[in-house]
Amino acid sequence: MTAPAPIDSLPTVILKPREADRIVAGHPWIYAGAIMHVTQGVTDGDLVQVKDHRKHWLGIGLYNAKSKITVRVITHEHTTVDQAFFEARIKAALEVRRRHLPGATSFRMVNAEGDFLSGLIVDKYDDVLVLQTSALGMDLRKQTIVAALKNLVSPRTIVERNEMASRKFEGLSDANGILEGTLDGPVSVNLNGLKFETDLRAGHKTGLYLDQQANYQRTAELIALTPGATVLDCFSFLGGFALHAARAGAKQVVGLDQSADAVAAATRNATANGLAAQCTFENANVFDWLKSQTTVGPHEKLIPKFDAIILDPPSFTRNRASVPDALRGYKEIHLRALKLLKPGGLLATFCCSHHVDSATFQDVVLSAAFDTRRILRRVATFSQSPDHPYIPSIPETEYLKGFAFEVVR
Ligand code: SAH
Repeated sequence: MTAPAPIDSLPTVILKPREADRIVAGHPWIYAGAIMHVTQGVTDGDLVQVKDHRKHWLGIGLYNAKSKITVRVITHEHTTVDQAFFEARIKAALEVRRRHLPGATSFRMVNAEGDFLSGLIVDKYDDVLVLQTSALGMDLRKQTIVAALKNLVSPRTIVERNEMASRKFEGLSDANGILEGTLDGPVSVNLNGLKFETDLRAGHKTGLYLDQQANYQRTAELIALTPGATVLDCFSFLGGFALHAARAGAKQVVGLDQSADAVAAATRNATANGLAAQCTFENANVFDWLKSQTTVGPHEKLIPKFDAIILDPPSFTRNRASVPDALRGYKEIHLRALKLLKPGGLLATFCCSHHVDSATFQDVVLSAAFDTRRILRRVATFSQSPDHPYIPSIPETEYLKGFAFEVVR
């Protein structure tokens, strides 16, 4: 008898009846409650074979009994999970970006479940890569992944930004460092032909909101329909929407953010792109700012002054239980923004909470429109940019939604 192939000698996780379908459909997560049996002692972080209750093959996954997600399936094939495997999988992800974001040099190169690599995120900022591993099995294979990334895109630098709360649930501690090359201070990243200075070792997310890159362009096109527009960019961070609007011809753009660092960086970004004359960024709490601008005395009338307002807040929800509070927050900013919009004006609004679906989100906007006696025309719908792929059989891969409305009256 020949020695068993390494794959067949892997420990086996047998699922309970009726638990196999979602795995076959492409969902990678297996919770403890779905498991009938594990054939032999497995060490956390190891590869396992996954089979249905009749012992039919389903795939190979990464095991971690410490995590709520006990197994993350990474392939349905009978294949060795080595550097070549990661290289092929990441190459496929790169091709998706090249097809759907042609010409882009900065994008999320691997988005975990969206690219069938649960627990791995790789962002590409020109020639610098930022890596995050949020699952033990991926974390243990970091060096293999780094080698695959070097072969594929020859990055100047690879940064590790592993400070996510989710690592705790996998038994992993925080890590932040340079895995390859060197990095001296903030870098200037090219996004849609604009330059954004960003600190890849300390900024939000891994540096920029790459998921909005397609929406920056589309929103700017809509703003350009009103030559010389006056624009308000709420929650402006590094000036993503503001700078795109200014480049598209807006004559006065005001950005608001409660982070003084973000305001300072956005101001530098405006200068670096030759857009300083049109853009000002203010350090303000958007809720307070909008309230002060919409509060009028008994005999005063509010004069709307903006041709376009962008609302791109952080997620107001952490879980399902916080949704009602979040909806009150969304309603409040929409009510006030609508009061500040001129007739015919454009409202581009986004919600990045997975727990608020787009119908619910639109209902909030409509309720604010009703209260302010505005009627809206929907002129665009937005979702996350194609470097954050949405896989319908993995509902968790959808989170960003948005709309552009014009005020009819
Ligand atoms: N529109 C940005 C991303 C926004 S992220 C872009 O495309 O890059 C959310 C931003 O809102 C962060 O920069 C954060 O500092 C800011 N923020 C969060 N709560 C705020 C508040 N109440 N008022 C003002 N800014 C806030």
